[in-house]
Amino acid sequence: MTKKVGSTGRFGARYGKKVRKRVLDIEKKLRGWHKCPYCSKLRVKRMAVGIWKCKSCNKEFAGRAYEVK
Ligand SMILES: [Zn+2]
Repeated sequence: MTKKVGSTGRFGARYGKKVRKRVLDIEKKLRGWHKCPYCSKLRVKRMAVGIWKCKSCNKEFAGRAYEVK
């Protein structure tokens, strides 16, 4: 990473600062753990867009693209 825009650096100068910051916030959230709606543990990872999997109870479920629910 050479720029302070982090993971959104790949967008180059095509998008404004505001848009990039919003995307950066979303991507930061995506990388973290999410709460499982079944066992309530923070053990859910996003597998693909809209697909989430809990590492604790091993349930796989569909959610929204960028959030569990
Ligand atoms: Zn679970």
